[in-house]
Formats: sequence, structure tokens, C-alpha cells
Amino acid sequence: MKSGSTKVPQGDNVTGNVANFHPDEKLVIGLTGGIGSGKSTVAQMFAEYGVAIIDSDLIARELTQVGGAAIAQIHTTFGNAYLDESGALNRIQMRQRIFTDPAAKLQLEAILHPLIRAQMQEALRTQSTFPAHSQHAAPYLMLVVPLLFTATGFRELAHCTLMVDCDEDIQIARVINRDGLDEQTIRRIMAAQTPRAEQLKMADHIIQNNGTLTALQILVQQQHQLYLNVCQKPPRPEIAKK
Ligand code: ATP
Repeated sequence: MKSGSTKVPQGDNVTGNVANFHPDEKLVIGLTGGIGSGKSTVAQMFAEYGVAIIDSDLIARELTQVGGAAIAQIHTTFGNAYLDESGALNRIQMRQRIFTDPAAKLQLEAILHPLIRAQMQEALRTQSTFPAHSQHAAPYLMLVVPLLFTATGFRELAHCTLMVDCDEDIQIARVINRDGLDEQTIRRIMAAQTPRAEQLKMADHIIQNNGTLTALQILVQQQHQLYLNVCQKPPRPEIAKK
């Protein structure tokens, strides 16, 4: 893949379910990528163009706050040891457990993923009901989901997928810089994620994030224009509403 290139030519020639996108719908993009690849940074840049961002990590945080919808099930499954004094999920404790216990990771995902998916569907419904002229109306919607290609039922929520990718050494350096984690821990997290090669194969579009933030901004702007072109495409005759 050439640095900074998107995977498919721009314009009408867009792969993925975008071919089935009807202009009366809201276009939904699924954004993914490995740890520290730049998903949040890219999502923020799209948000500046008015794109509505629905972030699975933020939803997961809400679900696991005090009184969150996942807390009762987490308590029943894992016990008091995984809640902190306030009754919220004890993230550090849980992270350590799921690192070393794959069955526990599956149990946690079985609790969280259906709840996250339901909230995303609800957010998509809400966003889609804003009339086009409303100040709340976004040109299109973006779901940020690290496990977009592997967690059940998420890929289907989007018309097409966009992966943020960067070289492994840059990715690791950025996470060390951001989180202060050691390289070994970061590599373990990466190993538990959807392999980069698979994501590169499955994504409809790719933004390469090996350069500066300014370079990234330009790529986001180009990708945004491509999505706007798709949104503004007149209905194809065979699917146009009478
Ligand atoms: P995670 O999967 O852990 O949530 P992420 O994919 O959302 O991570 P970001 O948090 O957006 O990744 O980016 C990781 C770090 O790299 C952040 O500190 C961000 O500011 C920085 N970063 C992202 N892109 C660039 C860039 N092009 N130049 C310099 N720093 C960058």
C-alpha cells in the first residue's frame, strides 16, 4: 500500500455496501484500526466536518460506570473483586484478568458487545431522524469500533469501512508516548486485536497515518469529500423512490 493512499479510487467507484446505499438513508461508515493507530484523532477530524461520531469505547465506559447497564451482569459473573468502591468496573483489575484468562475475556465481551451494539443502533436511529435542514443533522455517521471485523454484528451496522493504519514501530512509539505502557504490554494488546493484515484486507478504505497531523488532516479531508460525493449521489433509477 502506498503511503497516504486510500485503497480504492475516489469518486463513484466505492466498494463495500456503499453500492447499496440509498441517498434517502444516512451513510454510515465503520472506522477501525489497531491500538494507537489514530482512530480517535481521525474521528475528531471528521467530527470537525460535522460528521456524527458514535464511539464504542465511550459507550463501553458509560455501560461500566456506577449504575451502568453492564454492572449487574459483571457483578454476577465476576463478583465484587472486579468492581471498585464506588460500584464501577475496576478496569485495571479486569484488564489484568482478561489478559491471562481468555475465557474471562469472552465472558466480558458476551456481556458488553450486545449492549454496545444496541446503544449504537439506538444512536443511529436517533441521528437518522434529524431532518436534513436541522442544525443537528450530520452529513453522515461514523461508528468507531476497534473490533469492527471480529465482534459479531458490528460490521453490518455500517455501509462501508475505513481503517486507520500505521507502521508498527510508529504505532508502538505513539502508544508509549500517550499511555506510558512498555513495548511488551503494547505488543500483547496488539496480538489480541484483529491482525493488521486482515484489517487491511477487509477494509473498504484505508487512511495511512505514518506522517504528521497535517498530512493526516489532508487525507481525512479527501476521504470526507469522497463520502460527501456518495451521500449526494442522485438515486440510481432502479432504486429511486417514485
Ligand atoms: P486506541 O485504540 O488506543 O483508542 P487510537 O487508535 O484512537 O488509540 P489515537 O489516540 O487517536 O489512537 O492516537 C494515538 C496517539 O498518537 C495519540 O496520542 C495521538 O495524539 C497520536 N497521534 C495520532 N496520529 C498522529 C500523527 N499523525 N502524528 C503525531 N501523533 C499522532
